[in-house]
Amino acid sequence: MDPQTCTIILLKQTNPFYISDHDDISNHEESESDILQKSFGNVHKDTSIESCLNYIKLLPSSSTLLLVELDDAMENQAQLQLVSQTIELVSDAVPVIVYSTRDDPQFMLECIQVGAADYVLKPLRPDVIKTLFLTLVRRQHQQQSSPLYQDHLISCSTISTITSVMSPITPTMAHHCSAASNNNNKNSAYLPERIQDRIKALNARDINFTKAIIDSYIPSQPSAITCKQLTNEHEADLRKKISSWDFSPLSLSHDDLVHCSVLIISQVFLLNEVTEFRQDQLYSFILDLASIYHDENPYHNFAHAVDVLQCIYYFTCQLGLVPFADGTPRITNSKTYRILRPRDIFALFIAAIGHDTAHPGVNNAFLINTSAPLALLYNDNSVLESFHAMTLFQLLKKHKFNDILGGSDSKEYNEFRKLVITSILATDMALHGDYVTKIKEQKQRLADSDPTEWDAPRCLEERLLFCSGLIKCADISNVARPFPRAFEWAQILVEEFASQGDLERELGLSVIPMNDRSQIVLEDSQIGFIRYVAVGLFESVSEYMQDHIKRNLSIWEDRKRENIENNHEKTTQQHEQQRRQDSNSGSDTTATDEEYHAQAVAALAKKSDLDSGYTLPAMPTTLAMSSLLSMAPKRYPDEHDHQGEWDHHESAGPVYCSYLYI
Ligand SMILES: [Zn+2]
Repeated sequence: MDPQTCTIILLKQTNPFYISDHDDISNHEESESDILQKSFGNVHKDTSIESCLNYIKLLPSSSTLLLVELDDAMENQAQLQLVSQTIELVSDAVPVIVYSTRDDPQFMLECIQVGAADYVLKPLRPDVIKTLFLTLVRRQHQQQSSPLYQDHLISCSTISTITSVMSPITPTMAHHCSAASNNNNKNSAYLPERIQDRIKALNARDINFTKAIIDSYIPSQPSAITCKQLTNEHEADLRKKISSWDFSPLSLSHDDLVHCSVLIISQVFLLNEVTEFRQDQLYSFILDLASIYHDENPYHNFAHAVDVLQCIYYFTCQLGLVPFADGTPRITNSKTYRILRPRDIFALFIAAIGHDTAHPGVNNAFLINTSAPLALLYNDNSVLESFHAMTLFQLLKKHKFNDILGGSDSKEYNEFRKLVITSILATDMALHGDYVTKIKEQKQRLADSDPTEWDAPRCLEERLLFCSGLIKCADISNVARPFPRAFEWAQILVEEFASQGDLERELGLSVIPMNDRSQIVLEDSQIGFIRYVAVGLFESVSEYMQDHIKRNLSIWEDRKRENIENNHEKTTQQHEQQRRQDSNSGSDTTATDEEYHAQAVAALAKKSDLDSGYTLPAMPTTLAMSSLLSMAPKRYPDEHDHQGEWDHHESAGPVYCSYLYI
């Protein structure tokens, strides 16, 4: 790169809300230009960010630098804000360099922290200016290594296009622009001539808009981007693991989770319809996807995504739609009509593995309550789910899934996209009640009508709802796994809620009991969830899962009773000890005695309420913590009786599927 082919723009901008009492245009103006011109091929000066952005649009962004002069009279904070606002508006490809008289290392550092590419002290010196073009080289390297965009980023000034679309140019500006345009002055503001051109430009460039969002939410340090090769023996072991209901992704390494995902999704390739994909393409997609899940989230990490994928795979195997990966003979169904075609199963698998892509570890309520950028972007509606789907599709685009599926405007790709998005949006628990109602109604429709007589639009509608039901069951399937698995998942989910609660407290927000570390009781959280959330859904979808949650529910209830009894015993002993001490010292303890007694009776009374309806009791803190800290789940004698394979002859399987296939 030669600095003589580069453009440097000097922005002598002041905060529009700040009134300076001195003249901004300094006497150094002449010498600044001279110095800049000695090093750069093209020098441009401007006083407003808007016209700067429009000027940048006319230039190749890969060879343009923006030097932002700060006004010394402004407060530090205002200056930093100005720098950060300018960076936000300018394309990522254009480095923003701060130009100031402030010789303060701390302030320099803060400028870099808000995104400045470099910091130059006034007055300009030729020897310093000479090296500034190197920031362009660095910026290009950074952009090439961006995990999501290296293949398809269109490097240009998108935001300026958005600015021109969203903020119509005022009549005064338009007048100047057209006058300038008549004079063939290419340095003046650019105004697209036709609406069509403006929209075409926007469509071609809007990738930067989503990039800015995604870059803020994906891990800054992606996990490993390669995996160890599988040996035959290891592959056979993983194939066995994924074909069992007692699948335990929490005990698998990151590499094994990637391999499991590839093995599961590849099972669809054995079906006639999905033949366009190669396993190595799928492998590189999964590797990338795994790297943008946040490993440090206790619950919403890649292991959870693999768990949901495995659950759906297990369902589809049991329905005879997909062959088992461990060589178990494929279950055959006499019914030839299938609501799920192989390509729908492929889409459902992709939705499952990507349904929580780049999950930040806090829920929608937190994002909405803190007015997070994502909540503002999606207007508080299914914020995370919309974000997961959008991010997943960026990655699918990078790995050319749209091309493989016949191009972005093909029917096949559009059906794939519709199914993936619908399934992911269905995982928003705020919509749970509505979905349960719709799924119950669908169950009835399937019983009352013959799906073979449905026309294509009806079939599509029912298919989307069917997939929504399956992914919703899979997303909360933890509670129906064999108890040791259910226990592990419950612990980490509660930990993620508690971490959010800690953060809410730090931020001075109110903390609901479910997120309050001092109030959470593991058993209560599970009993409440099973009774009020899971049962209703599983009733309509899967008798098999219903059987499992009933067993798990009774185990959680047993644990709760034991905890209450132990706690009561402990409280009584402590109280008796205290009473003896008080008696020796001669103090009056009658009132405290009664309090303790009342508390113990109240706690025990809750036990008898369990069958008549669940209420969240206020458990003592020590008990809450002991529940969270009791690491080893108990083993129950009949544990193995109900954690084995799903016998499709005995179980009806997911109810509406059984109507169709069994
Ligand atoms: Zn999930």
